[in-house]
Amino acid sequence: MRDVLGPSVEIERIGVVGAGTMGTGIAQIACLGGYETRLHDPVSEALEQGLERLPEALAKGVKRELWSEGEAGAARARLSPARSVAELAGCDLVIEAAPEDLGLKQGLFATLAAACGPEAILATNTSSLPVTAIAADIPQPERIVGMHFFNPPALMKLVEVVATEHSSEGALEATAAAGRRMGRTPIRAKDRPGFVANRLARPFSLESLRMLEDGVADAATIDRACRLGGGFRMGPFELLDLIGLDVNLSVAQSFYRQGGNPERWRPSAIQGQKVSEGLLGRKSGQGFYTYGNGPHREPDPDLGIEAPTLDPGELARIEPAAEAVLTRLLAQIANEAAFALEEKVGAPADMDTAMRLGFNWPLGPLEMTELIGPERAVRLLNELQAERGDAYSPSPRLAALSGGGE
Ligand code: NAD
Repeated sequence: MRDVLGPSVEIERIGVVGAGTMGTGIAQIACLGGYETRLHDPVSEALEQGLERLPEALAKGVKRELWSEGEAGAARARLSPARSVAELAGCDLVIEAAPEDLGLKQGLFATLAAACGPEAILATNTSSLPVTAIAADIPQPERIVGMHFFNPPALMKLVEVVATEHSSEGALEATAAAGRRMGRTPIRAKDRPGFVANRLARPFSLESLRMLEDGVADAATIDRACRLGGGFRMGPFELLDLIGLDVNLSVAQSFYRQGGNPERWRPSAIQGQKVSEGLLGRKSGQGFYTYGNGPHREPDPDLGIEAPTLDPGELARIEPAAEAVLTRLLAQIANEAAFALEEKVGAPADMDTAMRLGFNWPLGPLEMTELIGPERAVRLLNELQAERGDAYSPSPRLAALSGGGE
């Protein structure tokens, strides 16, 4: 039997379970990476659709010159369906991309463990469930890891390799190596709420919603400041509308619950109100913006500003409130990153990589901490804590960096 605790687990065959949005994309990059890939879905129409979509995506990539006709053909030849979980036997790594439901994933992992044998690495693509809870009661928990891809998997370069307390170094390293061969950049993450990237992204929407509540600026002004001064591709409110306010709210509630109700992660009342009124964003025609036939906003002017910047003169050219918006946002981004570092959720360099590759941020959160400076961030957080309460309590690490001691 191969030793999953050892450092040199060789992966040749990959199974992907769940042929939806994520599973089909993951199967695509697995077979492009040279792996013999078996795709399974218990819903036969879903499996058939996945098997149809995948060659289409490979052909599209040839047109866009992402890979050659020969590479696409070889990738297609490596893909086969698994009509039952039993047909995944012989896979060295199985990546689960089934619906986000703890009971369903626990049952599925028990079935996979029985079908694939003790030597197969079993990985979950869950975004929000604890990997440890999915792995509970599965034999050989050392071979269970998280392998969290971003949507769409074929375009987003990041993959988080999530370690539970039981995951072996051999299983983690083999999973990271498979991620690299699939053309992704793996980073290591601890099994904490949101792992690295989704957690570090929390302040982008949450702090923007609080600024809206406090009347710092309206949604369109905050978005403009973030795009033109912050260098973000989309403002937080446009992004909330795109994701769906209800989807983002349930993520916010899950963080708040899993984190033990910290004030910093308390979901926004404004967002809750909008969701209860059915204002869910693009999909309902209205969220923070109204969506009709035309574009929801004017295109941005080219102000010749090199974003991200906190230069007061440059920011004043965007909006009078831009400096207040960006300093407050960056202070909370710096604070969340400092809390995450204290909890050893990921390595510092990995945190910046995660946000650049997983969310297309112009800088990582530690680079943003340098831009604002820990002293300025802590000064602002202290002021806000006095006015607004413990959502702004600075992390001991950030306080120490600012020279304020633990
Ligand atoms: P999806 O709904 O598009 O696909 C899920 C697939 O699982 C469907 O084809 C369904 O038929 C199949 N399925 C249903 N029951 C199953 C079972 N018992 N066993 C195996 N397959 C089953 O969902 P998705 O968006 O691809 O998400 C899948 C997973 O990936 C979730 O855990 C989600 O949290 C995670 N994820 C999603 C995104 C995203 O943006 N969509 C990003 C990262 C991670």
